[in-house]
Amino acid sequence: MFCYQCEQTAGGTGCTKVGVCGKNEDIASLQDTLILGLKGIAAYAYHARELGAHDEQVDSFMHEALFTTLSNVNFDLNSHIEKVLKCGEINLRAMEMLDKANVSRFGSPEPAKVSTGFRPGPGILITGHDLLDLYELLRQAEPEGVNVYTHCEMLPAHAYPELKKFKNLVGHYGSAWQNQKKEFEEFPGAILGTTNCVLIPKDSYKDRMFTCGIAVLPEVAHIKNRDFSAVIKKAKSLQPLPEKAAGTVFTTGFHHNFVLSIAGKIVDAVKAGKIRRFFLVGGCEGAKTSRSYYTEFVQKVPKDCVVITLGCGKYRFNHLDLGEIDGIPRLLDMGQCNNAYSAIQVAVALSKVFNCGVNDLPLSLVLSWFEQKAVSILLTLLHLGVKNIRVGPTAPAFLTPNVLGVIQQNFDLKLITTPDQDLKEILG
Ligand code: SF4
Repeated sequence: MFCYQCEQTAGGTGCTKVGVCGKNEDIASLQDTLILGLKGIAAYAYHARELGAHDEQVDSFMHEALFTTLSNVNFDLNSHIEKVLKCGEINLRAMEMLDKANVSRFGSPEPAKVSTGFRPGPGILITGHDLLDLYELLRQAEPEGVNVYTHCEMLPAHAYPELKKFKNLVGHYGSAWQNQKKEFEEFPGAILGTTNCVLIPKDSYKDRMFTCGIAVLPEVAHIKNRDFSAVIKKAKSLQPLPEKAAGTVFTTGFHHNFVLSIAGKIVDAVKAGKIRRFFLVGGCEGAKTSRSYYTEFVQKVPKDCVVITLGCGKYRFNHLDLGEIDGIPRLLDMGQCNNAYSAIQVAVALSKVFNCGVNDLPLSLVLSWFEQKAVSILLTLLHLGVKNIRVGPTAPAFLTPNVLGVIQQNFDLKLITTPDQDLKEILG
């Protein structure tokens, strides 16, 4: 954080006035955390607003919290900690608002099996998070005979009734954002990036790539007002996609409304000792090879345990067939990262049934973080008092040792180690 009083990076190597201007590196770290959390809230609130929903409390916190980060307005460590936890509370409101907006517009998600094959004919690949963009694309492409394939965080769209009713929503292609360059190069149709996380495209496909809404890329055509005619025209001008059989079939759509509809079955399985534990393994994906931890972890989860997932971190393991316990799939994909709201709803409902706190449930959280939304979700979990969360693959660099220490001390937050060691510690 740059301090406009001492004109140095506060608390950094060039700062000679720590203790005078009061912006020590821990306050700088908390302000960075707050700003990252606000960016996450902004993303969710933006999507909700596009669907006509807004929340005065979310808006006013955004202004107040951002104001707090001015260089010469707040020098108190404890109030920064309060603000960071409040950011988690407001993010919960934002995720709830977005979930309600999505469900009221597109219906309540239901489990869906999603093909990864190609149908013959022109095709468009859509990536990002914005379901309204997808809806409009499907609506405009359907009469033109153009098929639409989802990529990355768009996979859960197949579970929403008002989206899956389109006959031209035909499948899913590819995995998480960091594989875009390879996957987009190999996808033979047009490509549309709707939100984060888009990467600067390679020359090989940038003439058939488009962005819309908040996403903008250099030398890539940008669509305004959800008029996707140029994307559809481009798809029709390219060689039609050849027929390709599905290899992997993904299952998604375990939104909390569905999971709670089978809560009785889940509770019975827990009481009968058939389900020993739930693991929430999810979050953001990234390129680091150490993220293979999450694949190995899920592979090693005992057969009497259920894995809940969300976000694009699932592409480390959602191709695995984990089977079922009494008809309950052992891998429940709740959706996009904002569907952390669903996971929280399920945890709260189960804690009521079992008459215990969320921390006393047979539930462990093993999260992967990468970008701003993951920060806001982590703050939400801390605001809710959730303890014993494991995060990886590394500690966020914006947390100073002191700030990380306070979080670890108060919330028993842990960094991942090895799948064997962590499972041993969790399962005892
Ligand atoms: S889950 Fe996180 S990393 Fe993945 S696409 Fe969404 S915002 Fe990006």
